[in-house]
Order: sequence, then structure tokens, then C-alpha cells
Amino acid sequence: MSDSIDLVVIGGGPGGSAAAIRASQLGLRVALVEAEERLGGTCLNWGCIPTKALLRQAQVLRLLRRAEEFGLTTGEIGHDWQQVIGRSRRVVEELSGGVAALMRKNRVEVVRGRGRLTPSREVEVVPDDGDPVRLRAERVLLATGGRPASLPGVEIDGERVISSREAMVLPQRPDTLVIIGAGAIGVEFASFYGAFGTRVVLLEAEAQVLPGEDPEAATVLTAALEADGVEVRTGVRVTGVKTTSRARRATVAFEGPEGPAEVKGERALMAVGVTANAGGLGLAALGLRADRGRVPVDDDYQTPVPGVYAIGDLIGPPQLAHAASAEGAAAAEAMAGQGRGRPDPASIPRCIYSEPEVAGVGLTQAQAEEQGIEVKVGRFPLIASGRARASGDAEGLIKLVFGARYGDLLGAVIVGPEATELIAEAGLALAMEATWEELAHTVHAHPTLSEGLMEAAAAAFGQSINI
Ligand code: AMP
Repeated sequence: MSDSIDLVVIGGGPGGSAAAIRASQLGLRVALVEAEERLGGTCLNWGCIPTKALLRQAQVLRLLRRAEEFGLTTGEIGHDWQQVIGRSRRVVEELSGGVAALMRKNRVEVVRGRGRLTPSREVEVVPDDGDPVRLRAERVLLATGGRPASLPGVEIDGERVISSREAMVLPQRPDTLVIIGAGAIGVEFASFYGAFGTRVVLLEAEAQVLPGEDPEAATVLTAALEADGVEVRTGVRVTGVKTTSRARRATVAFEGPEGPAEVKGERALMAVGVTANAGGLGLAALGLRADRGRVPVDDDYQTPVPGVYAIGDLIGPPQLAHAASAEGAAAAEAMAGQGRGRPDPASIPRCIYSEPEVAGVGLTQAQAEEQGIEVKVGRFPLIASGRARASGDAEGLIKLVFGARYGDLLGAVIVGPEATELIAEAGLALAMEATWEELAHTVHAHPTLSEGLMEAAAAAFGQSINI
């Protein structure tokens, strides 16, 4: 088999599988090496997908609690934790089978086991049981993703100090949970556990939740988290976590505005970012060194070792599933000599599926201003949206940032219902270098949430009709 392969992809997550399929479409013979039983990687099995199932369940719970507002009556509202977790795992299983089917359809050979490069640049695949096999191909693509990062000196023991992986399958709902880091992962779990009645303390070193995101969006989100009972504490840098197995408690120490302090919880969830899975791949023997945890690549995603490529979490931020998929497809095309080029990092949407959702694409107002660009900003508060009001979900904002000179869209941030869906229009507008007029003069259906983009574009240039 190994003589007939053109490309070995190591890692079957969203990056690796997109690369494998695209390479196969382009006529390469592809083998995909995956260590886990299921394809789909962290995103499908332990990240994006199961957490979206859980967050949907939290959303349904919140709606049920508001039944009266909609003129509906319910009995007592409760939950069965095992079923809550169970549903999210079923979603994963169904989708994982779909990825395997896609590989078969695209003639990608899936090889089970842990892959690593040998000094002679073959790929050795070590299965859980059975003998290692060696694959030789002209090209190897590393797509091994990342794993939850921790703080120096703090071990994620999976028991008292947990990562997102444990947090999505806890056998019992904790009464108290201290979440360290208010990035996408921390915020989503705060939103989920807050809805289910866990007392959540969310600790963030920076001055706002979702650091780097538009502060107006962060303010709306913080208010919603607090309404769910989440204690949001920003400007606190966690310095350590102590655990005692007897007391079943994690004690989180931090440096806050009033000096050192600590907070205790049944568990502490580490949500401080992602570390690349660059170890154990045999990189050092090939003279390939990860730089601050990142594998260096050129514009075609080729590392300094000819024929060895890398994409996704391995090569650094934005470490998002959809970035990895785009990079995987672009890398496959570069190998076939028909590159679409590297996706512009600024065009990659940022999506947080909390309640309310937050989504952004392109530059924030602050980033544009830091670059010295004169901007025009248009806002559309959802309180003015007929559709949002009809749905009883009118908390939020659509904000568009344009260059004042040419009226070109620079960025968008949306906080509110369906923000993660609505942001796609702004993404397309950015990709097409659309101006405010093109957005404002595109007839949007009424009543929809998406009208808000049209209104915000018009508002930026003083032509809003409905606000
Ligand atoms: P993300 O990279 O989006 O998953 O977000 C990780 C979050 O963790 C960021 O908002 C960081 O500011 C935050 N963070 C990192 N280190 C600490 C720390 N020691 N204490 C509190 N928050 C932290």
C-alpha cells in the first residue's frame, strides 16, 4: 500500500479531513492517520459539536422557564443530568460516522494508530494493538491539533482540576465551578452551567470577558452571564490551584485588584487556551523545531523540511476548527499547484455560542483605530428589531465598522440571537470588499434579524430608516 500513496495526513480533525478530501479531489492518493477510534478530532468529539448540543439544551431550559411569558403553562421544570450529557454524546456519534463515510466516498484510506515522522521522513503508525506500519509518501501533512493548555505548575488532573474535555461529560452537575479564563471556552461553559443552576465563578486576567473582542459586545454578554447567576471577575490573574482529594475542593489562588485572594469550588475548569500537539511527532530528529509551541510554515503551509506541511492548531492562532479546515484545503491545493492562497486571518469569523451568542469578523473598532484608520461605525440595537421583539429575544447589538474614506466594511461584531449565523453575511461582505452602500441597498427580508446588518450599514452613514 505504502508505495502508492502521494500524501499522508496525520490527524483526522476538521483540518486533516478537509485536507485529505481536497487532496483526493485533486487526484492525490491519500492516507489519513488517526489515533482515536472516531474521526472528527477534538472539534467533533470533544469540542465545538458536543458543547453546542449542551448549549442548545441550556437554551431550551431557559425558554421553558420563560414559558409563562409566551402564554404557555408547564409542569415543574427539571432535568436528568445523564440524559443532558447523553444527548450531546449521541450527536457526536452520529456525526463521527458521517466523517468516516465521507472518507470512504473520497477514497481516503484511514489508517488507525498514532503517527510520527521517522528520521528518513517516513510515517510510522503505531496502533493501540498490533504491529506498527510504515507509510512512505512524497508529502506529509501534520494536522494533530491541540489540547487544553494549563497554567505553570497546575496539573489538569481530570478530577478537581478539569479541562473542557471533562467538563462536557461530568458524571454529576457540580454545585460550584470556578472557571479560569473567560475566552470562548470559559464563557461557553459559564453560560451552560449557569443555566443549569451551578454556582459559577468566572475568572479572567484581562479587563473584560472575551479579551480582544469589542467591549460593547463583552458588556452585553457579561450582563447576561450575571443574570444567569455567574459571578464574573475580570482583572484577576490566577496564580495557582490547590486540590485536596478528601475535601473534594479546588482552591484557586489569584492576584486581584485588591491583592492576592482565593476562591473555592467543587471543581476548577482550566480554560486558558490551547497548546499545540507538537510533541511525539518526531519533529526534532528532522531538525524541525516548534517556535513557542508553533510549527513554522510558509505561505503554502510547508515547514522548513521539504514535503512536510502543517496546518491548524499546530501552526498557532486563531486555533479554530474552521480556520484549520480552510488551511487544510488551501494546503492540499498548494500541493497540487493550484493554491487559493492562505486565508486572510482577519476574514476568519470568531464565534461564541453562549447566551447571547457573540460573533465577530474582521477588525474591531479599536483595532481599526489603532491602525490609524478613520472609521464610521453603525449600530443597530436588537431592541429595535421587529423579529427579535416577536421572538422575545431582543437583547443585543449589531455593530459594523467601515473605513470613513471609501465606505468599505472593515469588521463586524454581533451579540444576540443567531449572531454566529448572522456574521456570515458580514464575512462575505468583507471577502467581496463590499461598501456600506452595497450592504445598505441589498433588500433584506422583513422581519428578520439580518435586516439589522442593512440598518447598521445605513446608520454608519446617517441613513438609517428604522433607528
Ligand atoms: P482563549 O485563548 O480564547 O481560550 O482564552 C483564554 C483566556 O484565559 C483568555 O481570556 C486569557 O486572558 C485568560 N487567562 C490566561 N491566563 C490566565 C490566568 N492566569 N488567570 C486568569 N485568566 C487567564
